[in-house]
Amino acid sequence: MRLWEQMGGGPRGGCREGPTCPGRAGSERMAAPQVFPLSCAVQHYAWGKMGSSSEVAQLLASSDPAAAISEDKPYAELWMGSHPRGDAKILDDRISQKTLGQWIAENQDCLGSKVKDMFHGKLPFLFKVLSVETALSIQAHPNKELAEKLHLQAPQHYPDANHKPEMAVALTSFQGLCGFRPVEEILTFLTKVPEFQFLIGDKAATQLKQSMGGDSRSMASALQSCFSHLMKSEKKVVVEQLNLLVKRISQQVAAGNNMEDIYGELLLQLHQQYPGDIGCFAIYFLNLLTLKPGEAMFLEANVPHAYLKGDCVECMACSDNTVRAGLTPKFIDVPTLCEMLSYTPSKDRLFLPARSQEDPYLYIYDPPVPDFTVMKMQVPGSVAEYNVLAVDSASILLVVQGRVTASTPTAQTPIPLQRGGVLFIGANERVSLKLAVPSDLLLFRACCLL
Ligand SMILES: [Zn+2]
Repeated sequence: MRLWEQMGGGPRGGCREGPTCPGRAGSERMAAPQVFPLSCAVQHYAWGKMGSSSEVAQLLASSDPAAAISEDKPYAELWMGSHPRGDAKILDDRISQKTLGQWIAENQDCLGSKVKDMFHGKLPFLFKVLSVETALSIQAHPNKELAEKLHLQAPQHYPDANHKPEMAVALTSFQGLCGFRPVEEILTFLTKVPEFQFLIGDKAATQLKQSMGGDSRSMASALQSCFSHLMKSEKKVVVEQLNLLVKRISQQVAAGNNMEDIYGELLLQLHQQYPGDIGCFAIYFLNLLTLKPGEAMFLEANVPHAYLKGDCVECMACSDNTVRAGLTPKFIDVPTLCEMLSYTPSKDRLFLPARSQEDPYLYIYDPPVPDFTVMKMQVPGSVAEYNVLAVDSASILLVVQGRVTASTPTAQTPIPLQRGGVLFIGANERVSLKLAVPSDLLLFRACCLL
């Protein structure tokens, strides 16, 4: 008999009396602990920050002293979830399953009753930490309807039929492109950057100018026409115009002139990372956001975006469907991207969390999709013990700062957690965290609030 079978821990519903509990058939196995630490997969994509400069590497090194960080290797992403390409390992000897995915498959109640039914027994989200050194591609994610269509037409490029809303919450200063700029701003760039105007062409540029003051549909249509002209430009012409622009900015900068009104420094930086790439011009179409720690952006379906630099926690629906159009060596699908995008100009792209009514240390980032919610908990070091809100959903908790021991009704012994520690929490489990040192705690948690 396994140790946990002797403990008499029970599933939710108050049936915790152990083997003699009348509500449970004799042959039914006792429930495993519902809260346990995870060892999470690291992805070494080329765009990641190198070695110990990466937040991902720092979290890994702090949580696992045996982990050796290679300074010449990029540490791009930490995957906290059950995705088959990075299923988290369970760090609890009492549990027979090796990975979170295997465990969830055999302990479906841990998902929470509504989550289990709505997402067919699977964890609906993937929680990540990203450390970005070089820009990620200009991309958008399809809505469910388009995802199904694309998957049917080209499964090699669109591997599943699900949508992929995403949210990024900054851990350090985090720069990204998100959604179309207000048309006034795009028109200003058309005047100040003749190379940009050249690729779009006079006809589309004039149409955009004339759409000002008209209805939102004609503006969206003019914007689509401009963006499509840019993205469908001949490669040779793009390279020519980009070289002209790079030369012009470099000369002006060398002469001591400030080129920030056309994002000179960023343009040179992107061109260095992706020489000759059409995506360099996207900065004149899309809002440039620099998030401070704790600030967030939400990437709903069809919103064009690109992460440029910095560290963040990210949560997304479980899917791999990405339509790319620049700043990438990967498969690009310009016609699909130009067709699908939401051409709604707006400057207002920060996603604001709500402060919890019940818990003064809790901020909730609740996007308008069912798949996930992100929580941030900022607990001052003067608090001796902090109770994590019980929710009717499986959740994953990441310690970004601080040191605690976690206790739960089903865990036999308290679980020590420090910076980089990751805890799986089954639905409705009560977890209490005792601060091991009197320094501030910073925690992020992903769950699914239906
Ligand atoms: Zn994305």
